[in-house]
Amino acid sequence: MAEETIFSKIIRREIPSDIVFQDEKVTAFRDISPQAPTHILIIPNKLIPTINEVTEQDESMLGHMITVAAKIAKQEGIDESGYRLVMNCNKDAGQEVFHLHMHLLGGRNLGRLVG
Ligand code: 5GP
Repeated sequence: MAEETIFSKIIRREIPSDIVFQDEKVTAFRDISPQAPTHILIIPNKLIPTINEVTEQDESMLGHMITVAAKIAKQEGIDESGYRLVMNCNKDAGQEVFHLHMHLLGGRNLGRLVG
């Protein structure tokens, strides 16, 4: 069994956080150390430590994470200006919290990431 992180406590509302969306599959809340005017984390309610542990059974939840990201981007007013979705996996990507999460970043020019 994977070990719970602080994100499980956020999902269960055992510690304070600024939750912007929650349903039976995912929770979205503002990052405690925002790297852009909008910086929201979208996470599965189920504990999956990294992208490496994702299975085919998770595919609908993973698609849902993107649908939720698009809705939140609209709510935040950054759907037209643009935003970036980022998922870090393990050390070289700088993953610090081992509960799968998608960063939604926007509200400023984020620069080019690749290419
Ligand atoms: P990673 O580097 O693992 O992709 O990103 C983890 C993110 O979680 C970081 O951006 C960090 O600021 C955020 N974070 C870590 N602990 C907490 C917390 O307790 N509350 C909130 N809201 N964000 C957190």
